[in-house]
Amino acid sequence: MHADIVVLPGDGIGPEVTAAAVEALQFTAQRYGHTFRLREHLIGGAAIDATGEPLPAATLEACRQADAVLLGAVGGPKWSDPNAKVRPEQGLLALRKGLGLYANLRPVRPHPATLGAAPIKPHLLAGVDLLVVRELTGGIYFGQKRREADRASDLCEYSTAEIERVVRRACALARERRRHVTSVDKANVLETSRLWRDVASRVAREEFPDVTLEHQLVDSMAMHLLSRPRAYDVVVTENMFGDILTDEASMLAGSMGLLPSASLGEGRVGLYEPIHGSAPDIAGRGIANPVGAILSAALLLRHSLGLEREAACIEQAVAATLDAGILSADLAVAGQAATTAEVTTAVRDRMETGCQVAELRD
Ligand code: NAD
Repeated sequence: MHADIVVLPGDGIGPEVTAAAVEALQFTAQRYGHTFRLREHLIGGAAIDATGEPLPAATLEACRQADAVLLGAVGGPKWSDPNAKVRPEQGLLALRKGLGLYANLRPVRPHPATLGAAPIKPHLLAGVDLLVVRELTGGIYFGQKRREADRASDLCEYSTAEIERVVRRACALARERRRHVTSVDKANVLETSRLWRDVASRVAREEFPDVTLEHQLVDSMAMHLLSRPRAYDVVVTENMFGDILTDEASMLAGSMGLLPSASLGEGRVGLYEPIHGSAPDIAGRGIANPVGAILSAALLLRHSLGLEREAACIEQAVAATLDAGILSADLAVAGQAATTAEVTTAVRDRMETGCQVAELRD
């Protein structure tokens, strides 16, 4: 197949980890006979420095035309003045909005080799395999904001259509997994949550009778996510609750550097990025963990290009690399850490073996 992929390296460790993901994509193309046209564009602080804008029009246009977008991370101390008119994060928000991306997917599947690095007891983590689907374009982050001398308010709004589409997406994803969806809200207090619960129940009942839907209040969910994470399959929730719960869920994996994400809309084009930021404290040293970015490339193959076999090849190669104890500094015990390049090469080597096995099965 032919695919146009826009690569947005961004700031800090962004260029280092996207280079690793690009290597995995290029190897996939070569191995399976695809043509991926990978084009780099500017975003974030790097774009501000070059053009004055965090999301130049040329970048947005290229992303709109592409089949998929791979992003590193944006931001850093150089652009962090809170009073600055333009900030790197604005580029990311504008890109999500510009592409109509309303569902943010974060799969969390702790690997046996990294269980010890998580702050949770390993016996609670074994077998955890959950997918958080966060609504990305509505809720309190986008409602009207008011500030007076001695008070302030942020309006939280959701429409039926906004809830329907993200719940529908979560239920469809659950069909490819264990057919269980947990919808998280605060329906005992918030009117938006009562609407959320009504709509989620209707969508699941009418359109996904084969999927089990349960409702959970966000406060107890925050607790259960740590005390019994194995109980969950797909978790769907609104924007702010999802923002908080996805960061909490990332702790189950052992390191921020391990986790990928996908942001999807109605169309085919999706935005794929590791969940971590630009990590300015380790940028430029060649020690960043590239696994979250490489697994984001696997999500890109699966969700935007429909290449499930190729996505699985990357995921198996990453698992085999971790199994072999090839761990970057965020995971390894002192003195035994692999560099970004060493982890990337190890994944590539294992893709070669794994992909050959996949081809033989065809
Ligand atoms: P961060 O995720 O960049 O870093 C948090 C900690 O995790 C740091 O100690 C860092 O070294 C470590 N870390 C992160 N990714 C790692 C990796 N791949 N390998 C090894 N260690 C890794 O979060 P932060 O420090 O709060 O933010 C730094 C900058 O990134 C800020 O400007 C913030 O606004 C931005 N940010 C961007 C995004 C994004 O682009 N989507 C997301 C979060 C934060």
